Amino acid sequence: MPRWLLYLWPAPCTLLGLLLALPALALGARLRCVQGVAEISGGWLGRRAAQGVGPYNVLALTLGHVVLGSSAEVLDDLRVHEHVHVRQYQHWGIAFVPAYLASSAWQWLRGRHPYRDNHFERPAFVAEAAAARPVLPGDAESARSAV
Ligand SMILES: [Zn+2]
Repeated sequence: MPRWLLYLWPAPCTLLGLLLALPALALGARLRCVQGVAEISGGWLGRRAAQGVGPYNVLALTLGHVVLGSSAEVLDDLRVHEHVHVRQYQHWGIAFVPAYLASSAWQWLRGRHPYRDNHFERPAFVAEAAAARPVLPGDAESARSAV
């Protein structure tokens, strides 16, 4: 698939992310471009999100190729997780948001957790855990012998 198509397909979601980023940037957030993804973090809205929105503590949110985060440090910690969602947007395009919400609703109806058990969250958590796993001295040797 051509690279430009990976950006075009989820473009409406990216546009929504950029629209949400504008007030954040106006209120002191910072913009970084990391691996082709716009990361917006900090500022008044970032601090407010970290304090909690209703019963939820929102640390990061991915919309297309835009990731909004409570702080740059949070985005550094969650980058692997959020970039899994970016790739999911590249695959699903604008259908990602309704598919994500449908998965949450399905998990909730089954008595499971709508966030942790969401079909789209599970691979993000797996990638996050794999990235956080420390490299042990024998790992390189094991990897070589496995090839
Ligand atoms: Zn996630």
